[in-house]
Amino acid sequence: MGTILERMAAIESSHHVIGDLGMAKVSKTKVEYQDHPNNRQKCELCTMFRAPGSCTYVAGHIARRGWCTAFDRLGKAAKR
Ligand code: SF4
Repeated sequence: MGTILERMAAIESSHHVIGDLGMAKVSKTKVEYQDHPNNRQKCELCTMFRAPGSCTYVAGHIARRGWCTAFDRLGKAAKR
């Protein structure tokens, strides 16, 4: 059931679920991933990091102390 547009919206909204399954992630190159922190920003402080070494958004092995341009700080909403 549902129009094609509705189905596309459902697929789009499930993006992070797809990411958790290890599919449809973006490449490290696209988000300029590096294996060291950017000042005080690092993967283990990002909402998308999954210990011990992966990310729901970026493909491949992700270091705790890595960083990329998609960095999203844990708890940032609570601090506002
Ligand atoms: S900083 Fe980038 S690579 Fe690291 S966990 Fe966050 S989104 Fe993933």
